[in-house]
Amino acid sequence: MPINNKNKIKLRWRRSKIIATIGPASETSKNIHDLIKAGVNVFRLNMSHGNHAGHKKVFKRIRLCAKKNNAYVAILMDLCGPKIRTGVFENGSIELKRNAKVVITCGKGIGREGLIVSQYKKLYKDVKIGERVLLDDGNLECRVESVQAKNIHCKVIYGGTLKNNKGINLPDSKVSVSSFTAKDKIDVQLAMELEADFVALSFVRSAKDVEGLKRHMQRTSHEIPIIAKIERPESVANINEIIKASYGIMIARGDLGIELPAEEVPLIQKEIINKARANHRPVIVATQMMESMITNARPTRAEVGDVANAALSSADAVMLSAETAAGKFPIKTVKMMDKILREIENHQWSKNRFGEKLDDFNDVVSSRKAIAHAANTLAQELKLQGILVPTRSGHTAAVLSASRPSSPLLGISANISTCQKLALHWGIISFLVEEKKAHDWKALAQDIGKQCRLAKTGNRILLVSGFNDDEKLNEPVLKIIKILS
Ligand code: PEP
Repeated sequence: MPINNKNKIKLRWRRSKIIATIGPASETSKNIHDLIKAGVNVFRLNMSHGNHAGHKKVFKRIRLCAKKNNAYVAILMDLCGPKIRTGVFENGSIELKRNAKVVITCGKGIGREGLIVSQYKKLYKDVKIGERVLLDDGNLECRVESVQAKNIHCKVIYGGTLKNNKGINLPDSKVSVSSFTAKDKIDVQLAMELEADFVALSFVRSAKDVEGLKRHMQRTSHEIPIIAKIERPESVANINEIIKASYGIMIARGDLGIELPAEEVPLIQKEIINKARANHRPVIVATQMMESMITNARPTRAEVGDVANAALSSADAVMLSAETAAGKFPIKTVKMMDKILREIENHQWSKNRFGEKLDDFNDVVSSRKAIAHAANTLAQELKLQGILVPTRSGHTAAVLSASRPSSPLLGISANISTCQKLALHWGIISFLVEEKKAHDWKALAQDIGKQCRLAKTGNRILLVSGFNDDEKLNEPVLKIIKILS
């Protein structure tokens, strides 16, 4: 028990993955190297900041550092989407006083006391009388009193200082702007050119948004797996179809917690994690996880609890934003996150339960899912040291990962981009093998067992093979292999 934990188990491999956003505080080769050593599995490039030349440089640096460290890390390029922002003010900021009147204009110009300029020029079409307009990450609140031509007349409900280029959120309105903007189009071009492992699509509203981006990539170059960011009320309402259309899901709690009552977010988070898992989609919990470590060397106890809760709910990954992009302690933050996750996982392992048993696990019957379930049971009951899974596209490994087995998942592929992609998935350790060796699984099992120092007498692993992209050709095999010393 953790309360009296003298003989604590220490798992060698962390199961939950860590995503770090790269920025000025972390973009040197030395920092990237140290972040990989500290445990980062996926790097996020935030397209809301910086320029293409800078992103290209950092992208190549990450690939090089990963190679030098013999690590398979993925790169996620996060498209900024239609984040609605204020323009600039004559004096850099204005004061909004409670009950005062303020006009949000959708024309050109510069803001001043009593006048805010919206960068989104159709804002006046999307809002109605009585709806809320939240400013600066929801810190300030106005209510629409009337809309005249392109001017939105509002009353200030919660006031404060409003600086240049702050976010505008419209939790009550149906925003018509597309989630795939002209800037996103240029940015996704760069992602395809650089061969990013994932692109994240912001402010997704329905599966159509995801399908649209997919088609765009297929038409122009090649498809990159899409992570749908859940940060609008519509995306929560349409979560089932979005999960099915996407490769993975990010619970983007920054905007989500503004667009919806913040108290609803924890249960939404839990439900989305379960739904994504049931559909074997990786799921990321993002934003403010270790926020205070932007400036402090230690997290708050509440932040520790938040990271722990994400692991207890069995999210695939937890994400750091400004903590690693612009904070004072990027490496320390990752090390701290790693420690929290390991503490929780050691406990979960001792209880033989890494994730909740999902109610709808059997909703869609597929042989992969059934085999994953069987592999999980075998590994647990026979205390096997690992589950070895040859995987071309990563799909079989992803399905196995979603069942949250207690034994580590050793994902083998001859495809480096599959190895990188699997870095996002819960519990998977990637191994790249030469194509010509990728058929003799028994020999490979011995090889990898040795690499992982599993070659003690009695150490057995489970080989799960025989899957094909075409379900009809599947001949699944479960084989227990003894690793020879
Ligand atoms: C969020 O809103 O939580 C989020 C991850 O999105 P971004 O950082 O792009 O605003």
